[in-house]
Amino acid sequence: MDAHQTFVIVGAGLTGAKAAETLRSEGFTGRVILIGDERDHPYERPPLSKGYLTGSAERDSAFVHAPSWYAEHDVELHLGQPVVHLDKKTRTITLGDGSTLIFDKLLLATGSEPRRLDVPGTDLAGVHHLRRLAHADRLKHTLASLGRENGHLVVAGAGWIGLEVAAAARGYGAEVTVVESAPTPLHAVLGPELGAVFTDLHAEHGVRFHFGARLTGITGQDGMVLAATTDDGQEHPAHDVLAAIGAAPRTALAEVAGLELAPGEEGGGIAVDASLRTSDPDIFAAGDVANAEHPLLGRRLRVEHWANALNGGPAAARAMLGRPVSYDRIPYFFTDQYDLGMEYSGYAAPGSYDQVVCRGDVGKRQFIAFWLREGRVLAGMNVNIWDVTEQIQQLIRSGRQVDPDALADPSVPLTSFLD
Ligand SMILES: Cc1cc2nc3c(=O)[nH]c(=O)nc-3n(C[C@H](O)[C@H](O)[C@H](O)COP(=O)(O)OP(=O)(O)OC[C@H]3O[C@@H](n4cnc5c(N)ncnc54)[C@H](O)[C@@H]3O)c2cc1C
Repeated sequence: MDAHQTFVIVGAGLTGAKAAETLRSEGFTGRVILIGDERDHPYERPPLSKGYLTGSAERDSAFVHAPSWYAEHDVELHLGQPVVHLDKKTRTITLGDGSTLIFDKLLLATGSEPRRLDVPGTDLAGVHHLRRLAHADRLKHTLASLGRENGHLVVAGAGWIGLEVAAAARGYGAEVTVVESAPTPLHAVLGPELGAVFTDLHAEHGVRFHFGARLTGITGQDGMVLAATTDDGQEHPAHDVLAAIGAAPRTALAEVAGLELAPGEEGGGIAVDASLRTSDPDIFAAGDVANAEHPLLGRRLRVEHWANALNGGPAAARAMLGRPVSYDRIPYFFTDQYDLGMEYSGYAAPGSYDQVVCRGDVGKRQFIAFWLREGRVLAGMNVNIWDVTEQIQQLIRSGRQVDPDALADPSVPLTSFLD
């Protein structure tokens, strides 16, 4: 029966490529069609603000599979082709060139896109976003020339991407100012104390921060950026500006098709159940665009994490094949900035925790931080300490109450909380 079926995946990012891979590895013999609007073969995005941007990794290292993999696995790959319409009644999608395809099962893996700055001057040539390889190609070139010419980069937003680019820019020798409306970097995720770890790290590397301020405009001359202004009246010299103010899920197709969406205050995205199925039984969504019922957390969650693309794509593929799926991975995220490497597991929304416990040396940036509610670990972040993610995730999954003093004591093995 499989052989007569057509499974279509819209969005040729990590989620889409991994879903296609899983359909084949699970023995699906029908047509697998993977469609992406970018021209590059499916690639992973973390290197775009890290190894590839800094110059320590080759461009090719970002690709999910070798270009030949798709034909070898009979995956019909359409690149540079936006899907512009989805009709769920007739099970039809329309591509940008007007052609149509009928599917038996569909996976929406359309990811997210950078939010745009809504201020005057964003049309100037030196204003950047970072989502695509093509953006990284251009930004890499820009950072190198800023470094050579003692130029200034203003980064709007002290989130993960803003900070990683700030670190890369300092590596090239560019002057960097980060403008952030919150009082510390990553304020919503880490809270003030741990956000300060990143302030100190970057300040030691020569990054200037301007907290509590918003960018109100970018001024230029002859199409070139000259300065960025903030709502407190300050003017920051700039040759280039990076807008790193977050991303929005790409839900346009789902909206047109009338699929259920999650409310904006719950992170938006396409609403899916724990098997990553949308409100239509033959349509699935995974990765950045999906807002999934999380069996363990007992709530809906949309995350923009590499690991969620890596694991969510395969989970959706199994669900498309009719296998029982309950996608309950603990959210996981990582970053690399200068000599700091960090992994974050779990989910601790602002206001959801009542205690933060640190184990190790925060000053030396070698520690694990735990976010707790009533003695139960909601999330853990290991900084320059490795091979503890599994234990942290087990601790979160167990839901057990732990003694915070013992948790803070590095001489008490993490495994002892799991016995
Ligand atoms: C610069 C950068 C650095 C990152 N670093 C980290 C990190 O260190 N750690 C971490 O955990 N996460 C990181 N992330 C997040 C991580 O990369 C994302 O969570 C991941 O890319 C999500 O994968 P996805 O396949 O769901 O979506 P995407 O990667 O966004 O892929 C979706 C694809 O679908 C295409 N598409 C959308 N709509 C259509 C359409 N209508 N028709 C055809 N194609 C369409 C898009 O163009 C895109 O190619 C980073 C993200 C960026 C941008």
